[in-house]
Amino acid sequence: MAATQNALHSVTVVPPDYCELKRLSCSQQEEVGAKGRIDNWWNSAASDKGTYSTSNYLLLRISSQSNQLSSYCSEPRTPRENGKSTFTSPFAICPSHGELESIPRADSADTHQSSSTVACNAVSCISTDLIFARLQQCIDDRDLEAGRKVHWLAIQSGLDSNAFVGSHLIRMFAHFDRLTEANQAFHRIVNPNLYSWNAIMLAYVKSGHHQIALKVYQDLQNSCPELDGHIFVSALRTCFSPVNLGQGRQIHMQAIENGFEFDDYVGSTLVEMYAKCSDLESALAVFNRLPRWRAISCSLLIGGFVDAGEEYIALELFRKMVEKDVELDEVSYISILEACSNIAALGHGRQIHALLIELGLEFDVRVGNAIIDVYVNCQRLLEADTLFHRLPVKDIVTWTTLASGYAYNGFNKEAMQIFDDMEHYGVTPNSITLVLILRACSSVSALEQGRRIHARIVECGTELDDFAGSSLIDMYGKCGSPDDAIIMFERLPKTTAIAWSALIAGTADNEEGSKAFLLFEQMQRENVIPDRALFVCILKACSDPTHLDYGRFIHCHVAESGLGTDIFLANALIDMYVKCESLEDACTLSKTLPEQDLVTWSLLIGGHVQQGFALEALQFFDKMCNEGVEPDGTSFVCALKACSSIAALQQGRRIHGQAIEKGYELDPFVSSTLIDMYAKCGSLEDAQRDFERLPKPNIVDWGALMSGYAQIGNYSLVLQYFKAMQSRGIEPDEISFLSLLAACSRAGLLDAGCAHFKEMRDNHGSVPSLKHYNSLVDIFGHTGCLEEVEDLLETIPFGNNLVGWTSLLTSCRRYFDPSTGRRSFDRFIVMDRTNATGYVLMENIYSQMGMWDDANEIEELRKYANGWKKPGKAFIEIGNQVHNFAVGDKSHKESSAIYAKLEGLNLQLQEEGYVPRVDLVMDSTSEDDKVDALCGHCEKLAIAFGLISTVPGTTLRVSKNLRMCADCHNATRLISKLERREIIVVDAYCTHHFGNGICSCTEHL
Ligand SMILES: [Zn+2]
Ligand SMILES: [Zn+2]
Repeated sequence: MAATQNALHSVTVVPPDYCELKRLSCSQQEEVGAKGRIDNWWNSAASDKGTYSTSNYLLLRISSQSNQLSSYCSEPRTPRENGKSTFTSPFAICPSHGELESIPRADSADTHQSSSTVACNAVSCISTDLIFARLQQCIDDRDLEAGRKVHWLAIQSGLDSNAFVGSHLIRMFAHFDRLTEANQAFHRIVNPNLYSWNAIMLAYVKSGHHQIALKVYQDLQNSCPELDGHIFVSALRTCFSPVNLGQGRQIHMQAIENGFEFDDYVGSTLVEMYAKCSDLESALAVFNRLPRWRAISCSLLIGGFVDAGEEYIALELFRKMVEKDVELDEVSYISILEACSNIAALGHGRQIHALLIELGLEFDVRVGNAIIDVYVNCQRLLEADTLFHRLPVKDIVTWTTLASGYAYNGFNKEAMQIFDDMEHYGVTPNSITLVLILRACSSVSALEQGRRIHARIVECGTELDDFAGSSLIDMYGKCGSPDDAIIMFERLPKTTAIAWSALIAGTADNEEGSKAFLLFEQMQRENVIPDRALFVCILKACSDPTHLDYGRFIHCHVAESGLGTDIFLANALIDMYVKCESLEDACTLSKTLPEQDLVTWSLLIGGHVQQGFALEALQFFDKMCNEGVEPDGTSFVCALKACSSIAALQQGRRIHGQAIEKGYELDPFVSSTLIDMYAKCGSLEDAQRDFERLPKPNIVDWGALMSGYAQIGNYSLVLQYFKAMQSRGIEPDEISFLSLLAACSRAGLLDAGCAHFKEMRDNHGSVPSLKHYNSLVDIFGHTGCLEEVEDLLETIPFGNNLVGWTSLLTSCRRYFDPSTGRRSFDRFIVMDRTNATGYVLMENIYSQMGMWDDANEIEELRKYANGWKKPGKAFIEIGNQVHNFAVGDKSHKESSAIYAKLEGLNLQLQEEGYVPRVDLVMDSTSEDDKVDALCGHCEKLAIAFGLISTVPGTTLRVSKNLRMCADCHNATRLISKLERREIIVVDAYCTHHFGNGICSCTEHL
């Protein structure tokens, strides 16, 4: 210690340049340029010698810049009597120069061989102002050591007991987080004033010792009843966390008592305190009483409400602030934009954007990013993109926001393009951006791009992170490269449930269900506990009727894992059962759930519609509504589809009413399904009316209307709409051409059909699909060009075309052509040996020509092959109820009346010239049995029931899941005349409008 003190008390003989510096500092201290020149000099000196310490530099800067030098010299003070001061002070006045000298620190003095030392008994003549200035300098220079020397100086001069000096010492020590020293400084003050108390409180607040700060506050209250605003602000700052809210409220009360509540700073600190304690209500109450709204309170309050998910309150507050012309900061604008983004409030977002343009803040990169985020979340990608391109400065967030917007809205290619542009502009993507783009690659199966991103992720060094690693596995799986997925998986240092999920999902996506099961079992052996997401992945792998058993096995696992009541997983299980075509399992599971949400119901409704259980689907829909679950667009679409499939017009109207009530009528998916429903229920007037109500029909709406007219073979109307659509600037798609072709087929228009097919291929550049070819097959078949059909079928560039050959077989029956029929039949059974449709048609062809031996041979073949035919079902809606009939059904409660009516009708019909087509009946021995069998056809049962349960003249609407047979067609034609009824039958092929003995179709003439 003694050696150090000696060294410190010596005065350096400085190099010649130093004298030059002093000259400058004395003569030019008022000049602006002096500091710069001295700094320059010192920097070069320091680099030459490499030995001058920071404290020297500090001293020089102080002496050169400030007027304190003169006060330092002109007001000499007697040093303290203990005399220590002159020995240990690092600063001294050199008596021979009469000027300030610098004493190098001990360490530098040792190396400074050229320096010789002289004794100096400098007198410390210190003023409070000088100490203040020096302390400030120490803080600016981040030099604690220099600060400690000033402290020492203050002790030497006795000024440390001064409240002003002591407070600044506390402030300086607090700045360097030296709490003990700050505390010592505080206790050396003889009469601490409010400023001192505040300084020590702030020191504790700053270092996070809120309880001690509060203790100081309490001590202060005891010693000094008159507090000022600064004290309240500091005290409140100790309560910036919910645990101290009670304390905060107390301080609030004291501030009110002292009349400080409406003080600008205290008020806004109160708002801040309540906002940070998540007591937004109190924050708002204080805020509303404040005479002036400061930007900081505004931004805290808005941010608080946005974070709490109270976006609408935030928006309302923001509106008031704008009305009051409060000058808001960027943080407020960013918060309020976040609110707009969270709730997709496009209108508000646009208004705020306009305001920001006015304020010139639009191009601030953080504000710009927030605006882009609003547009992205409101699915306004064009507006997001426009602003993006206008932003003069873009950061990584800007690029990532736009790219994620494109990716989340399904524009994966665009997202990838943005990534390319970003690289082109030299912006280095971070790991988040890379993973985002990787997901876009997965969605569009862009394997090569995915590999490139993989390389970039490796460069980032995050390849083996759980997050990036699983995304890579996911990408390879989705891009059809499961082997790469496995390689990636094996490289991971730790395989978590997330990585397993990605691997299993990828395997399942590549239709390697059984492989996915093996992986699942391996994972279990490795004791990785499957989570929700993993179960969902493995369930996806089970979603095929052939994997039903494994699905049930996983179901047991889910139950064992204790996740059985998780609604998300339960829905995944129901989805699996629906896809495995096991509606029974799906229903059983749904009944065990404590509650069923919209997804559960939608799955049940959709599953039943898909598998032809329209009635059950409608029951589920009604049950859902009764249980208070609000239907959404998807469930409306499913319910309406159920109505279409059974021509339940009244039910359809009812659900339409509900859709209007809930505001879904103009939902693009619901609107087109409505048109389709009315068309399929045979009410084209309704379809037309609905279509005309649409402000801007889209291609699907046009398609639904055209296909409705195509179903009844109204070619001229289909063509008219086809042209009208094009004149409105909508390019026809394959559905529109399908409608045109279907209309030609139903109406028997060969030339027009061929012309449209050619037009589609040559003028619109569309590649015809199998459906288009089969429409052409229908058109040729319908007009009897069987040879052409056969040639066409041989050349159609698709695999097994069961539909096409069935169509030809039907035409052969119509045109009595057993030889072409037989060739078609031979082709048919090669493709599907167990489908009875081919056998039935061929047998019909033979039997209608009296070729009984051949017919019997086909019948034998069918029995041998176990040929199976989908059972026919017919539906009729009476009042608000839909009744269904199977073939030969006797289960209906009106069954006896129905059969009696049919018997009576049969006699009347035969008088009208009806001959039962017994040739169409197989499996029966006697002629009478065959006539009975024909009577039991489901559509006849439905029509008979309709006749006996409605008043004369009511139109009957019947739907059938298969094609109507020739016998029923003929009978219905005559019934319409006999009973003077309009009868509409919607079958699997077209819509028949029967009236006065004729049908609108040209099928069975
Ligand atoms: Zn029939
Ligand atoms: Zn018909």
